[in-house]
Amino acid sequence: MFNFILFGPPGSGKGTQSEKLIAKYHLKHLSTGDLLRSEIAKKTPLGLEAKKLMDKGSLVPDSVVIGMISDMLDANKGAAGFLFDGFPRTKVQSEELDKLLHARNSEINVVLALDVSESELVKRLLKRGETSGRSDDVNESVIRARIAEYHKKTSAVLEHYDKFDKVIHVKGEGSIEQIFERLCASLDQLQEEKHN
Ligand code: ADP
Repeated sequence: MFNFILFGPPGSGKGTQSEKLIAKYHLKHLSTGDLLRSEIAKKTPLGLEAKKLMDKGSLVPDSVVIGMISDMLDANKGAAGFLFDGFPRTKVQSEELDKLLHARNSEINVVLALDVSESELVKRLLKRGETSGRSDDVNESVIRARIAEYHKKTSAVLEHYDKFDKVIHVKGEGSIEQIFERLCASLDQLQEEKHN
């Protein structure tokens, strides 16, 4: 199994790049943002609770997203590997993910971190808000709140995986194709090392 985390702040291009990466590497895409939005669309009790937090730019509770990921790992036992997108987002989520994978004789092989400047993030998210229908993309103060949550809670995920030397930084600015090629180059090199 080859599992990796595509890491980066809101608006760094994780969703766009994930779609291209899963097609090329035949991985199962696990996006907690997408899973939560699907609960919202179905108007489940979990979705309705999550929506209140998401609309403010806050994170939903760790236990909720960890439960969703655990269920998805069980539901996709035959997968060649997983691409985690938007998860883990806190130190606790990182530790729990490691435990979930360990219990399945697996681990995170690498964390690819997309680096994008804050002014570019805000610009991209406001632009996405014009067409995405996502309520958390329309308002600049909600976008700033999400970026603040990222600095306060999510950057700890990088520190966690840095301890195990698993983080590779990738420049997240440029064309979609250029960024994709940078990500693929890192992944190809790693997979080669793994097989040698
Ligand atoms: P983005 O990275 O573009 O902000 P996502 O689609 O990944 O968007 O997530 C949207 C919202 O869903 C987040 O702002 C947060 O409220 C919630 N969310 C998604 N993933 C997690 C997570 N792992 N832990 C807590 N909250 C999450």
